[in-house]
Amino acid sequence: MSRPAKAIIKLDALRANYQLAKDLTQGQVVAVVKADAYSHGAIQCAQALSRQADAFAVACIEEALELRKNGINHPIVILEGFFEPAEVDQIQYYQLDSVIHCHEQLAILERSRLTHPIRAWLKMDSGMGRVGFMPHEYRQVWQRLNAIEKVKDIVLMTHLACADEVGIRHTVEQLEVFEKATLGLPGERSIANSAGIVAFPRAHSQWNRPGLMLYGVSPFPNSHAIEQRLKPVMELRSRIISIKDIAVGSSVGYGSNWVASRATRLGIVAIGYGDGYPRHAKNNTPVWINGQRVPLVGRVSMDMITVDLTDLDNPCVGDGVVLWGEPLPIEEIARCADTIPHQLLCNLNRVPVAYSSVAHIQGTEDPVSESA
Ligand SMILES: *Cc1c(COP(=O)(O)O)cnc(C)c1O
Repeated sequence: MSRPAKAIIKLDALRANYQLAKDLTQGQVVAVVKADAYSHGAIQCAQALSRQADAFAVACIEEALELRKNGINHPIVILEGFFEPAEVDQIQYYQLDSVIHCHEQLAILERSRLTHPIRAWLKMDSGMGRVGFMPHEYRQVWQRLNAIEKVKDIVLMTHLACADEVGIRHTVEQLEVFEKATLGLPGERSIANSAGIVAFPRAHSQWNRPGLMLYGVSPFPNSHAIEQRLKPVMELRSRIISIKDIAVGSSVGYGSNWVASRATRLGIVAIGYGDGYPRHAKNNTPVWINGQRVPLVGRVSMDMITVDLTDLDNPCVGDGVVLWGEPLPIEEIARCADTIPHQLLCNLNRVPVAYSSVAHIQGTEDPVSESA
């Protein structure tokens, strides 16, 4: 038998979450599948959404070409745009949409010999403080871009810094800056990420850009009603590979940072930070075994974790374990590791990924039989 660590991706859940983004915004929805669809597999996810999706977005041209070469003919937006002139040829050839966020990109485009019409997404820094043209120069840049003959279409775009903090003013200020600086400019708009889609109807526009919520994960640091409507797409699973009984006072793991305060039945599970399970998960981070939560104890190793099985009825080597997914929200695991779910997902490594179109795979008894 091979090592039992595995990620199961539920494509029906992905489709349902996409539809939820559609229902919430009423506009077009660009499925953000950068970073290999937050480790869910960009090709598989894009193919699963191909009937529904209005467009896809990725970070860079390499990610875009991977989709084109696997039969995705939808509009694909490159969120960081291009880095050098040679990429512009590919953007034209493969009919990709590029974000233009800086003067260097604008200059490259002006000097390029364009033969095919392209669509550009002109990005404003309305308060994110990262990439994008400043509001005061935006109109002038728009005119230069619009003067390039083959640029057929310009989408006006910005990105929100704090949409996951419901109730603070920053997002409203960003929206006001963007609205003012684009007043009277023709073209469609694109503003909202997942948090903007859920929490700021005013950020909805013709092109909305959800990432995290497509994967069934709430974009908010605190619990939020949307969690009830999102369906987790990834389930990270493994199995117990060893069980031992240890005496009071025995220490467990690197640094011996956990010491048994009672006679303890210890389970060893084949998952570790080499797979993307967070090394900083604290003692008592929940792990799901046989329909129950049990606490992580001791430090996370590269290939293994240790859990306290003392309160379980008859645990056995080979029992299925869920690290995050349907019964155990990844949002909660992220909090236990002082990080955000995006990072946990992106750090996924080494584990085989299996795809399922069935929304609910029963229990944890047979975690790996429906592999792709
Ligand atoms: C990553 C990204 C998104 C998606 O963000 P989520 O918070 O995952 O919904 C949207 N827009 C841009 C520009 C991005 O870089």
